[in-house]
Amino acid sequence: MKRTYYLETFGCQMNVVDSERIGELLATIGYQPVSQPDDARLILLNTCAVRDKAVRKAYGHLGRFKPLKERNPELIIGLGGCIAQQEGAELLGNFPYLDLVFGTHNIHRLPELVDEVEANRVRCEETEFLDRETRLRLFPSRSDSDQVARFVTVMQGCDNYCSYCVVPYVRGREISRPSGEVLTEVRALASSGVREVTLIGQNVNSYGLRDAEELSFADLLEQVNRVDGIERIRFTTSHPKDLSPQLIDCFGRLGKLCWHLHLPVQSGSNDILRAMNRGYSREHYLEIVRHLKEVCPQIRLSTDIIVGFPGESDEDFNATLDLLAQVCFADIYSFIFSPRRGTAAADLADNTPAAIKQQRFDRMLKLQQELSRQVWQQDVGQVCQVLVEGESKQGAGQLFGRTTWGRIVNFAGERSQVGQTVPVHITRSFKNSQLGELVCQDKLTP
Ligand code: SAH
Ligand code: SF4
Repeated sequence: MKRTYYLETFGCQMNVVDSERIGELLATIGYQPVSQPDDARLILLNTCAVRDKAVRKAYGHLGRFKPLKERNPELIIGLGGCIAQQEGAELLGNFPYLDLVFGTHNIHRLPELVDEVEANRVRCEETEFLDRETRLRLFPSRSDSDQVARFVTVMQGCDNYCSYCVVPYVRGREISRPSGEVLTEVRALASSGVREVTLIGQNVNSYGLRDAEELSFADLLEQVNRVDGIERIRFTTSHPKDLSPQLIDCFGRLGKLCWHLHLPVQSGSNDILRAMNRGYSREHYLEIVRHLKEVCPQIRLSTDIIVGFPGESDEDFNATLDLLAQVCFADIYSFIFSPRRGTAAADLADNTPAAIKQQRFDRMLKLQQELSRQVWQQDVGQVCQVLVEGESKQGAGQLFGRTTWGRIVNFAGERSQVGQTVPVHITRSFKNSQLGELVCQDKLTP
């Protein structure tokens, strides 16, 4: 059977980058991607364990592949990512049709593991964490790209141990990639046509803090800002406790840094923030927001919120609603607390009924929908600079790109404009995107 693979990715941007790496590695042993699992010799799931919903979804999809295996015993099914890291060899016991389990530090071994399964029809599991030196060698990196906007990994892992979060257990210790390598990659990407880079890691704000010789994240941004060809810079994810005043000032100083910051707050209640082990208070967070808006009045913020953390009272929840109204986030990503095995919060007493949590969640969403609508509506009638990323799904002659705030804008244009930053008159604003019309350059007032 032809060497073809079907890959499904769950969860965060880190997994998106890991999946790209998986694709590159599989190409080295002659595997080509296919869009239907029925056409694949190898099916891989790159999973997320952050919330129960994501875990159940991955298992649901895995179950769907069982009949395929029964029809085609040659099929290889593998599961990687955070669930693999957490469950390890037990997965092979629980899912007899699973051939391969690989952890978050073991992606580089995929070619050998797949070859091994294929040649000897053995079942493999590899989930051990690697030492620092090896991890430094294996940072995902690329030197060219046909895309306009790319992720660049600057750090991996997390040492924060927020009490609800499984990430430190499944991604390992925090490690920063040497700044020289990051800059080499950004320069190479710029030469191959990339115009926007998003520096990513679980907590990019603590970049370099553990190494006295390394640049701070603010200094790294400054260097990236100097790279010719790069027009826009973003970064994610930020932790409020490590968002230094120097880093905040970057939003006022660095011309290429986009006016958007994702800054997860999780809760507006100091008691809950303490129980979450977040390391900042509501007041500190609001002070950061004030400082950000002072140095960059146009900045728009997005955040993550957990509703129904164990012990969250009505008062705590109302404090979160109050914070949302005060800050006026452009977007929020909200989740009902989901206990994760092995984390500190999993053992906390939780007396709030599920129905109350759902009510809180719905109330919050309703408030935020109105706030988001107000924020994005401000753009209607304005001309925004849009970096064109490609042809839109809407069909021929339609392009899509993003504003500095990260909003997708669809508009009519020509393919040759992909990669350019063009002025677009925003005509409508929807829940997740906007519609616009290209402004002829000669009609623009200087
Ligand atoms: N490193 C990032 C992302 C962590 S996971 C950060 O620190 O923000 C992404 C989001 O999932 C978190 O911000 C949090 O809001 C949510 N999350 C994590 N663990 C959760 C849990 N056990 N239950 C519900 N939501 C959770
Ligand atoms: Fe999880 Fe907290 Fe680390 Fe984010 S900072 S990955 S929420 S432990």
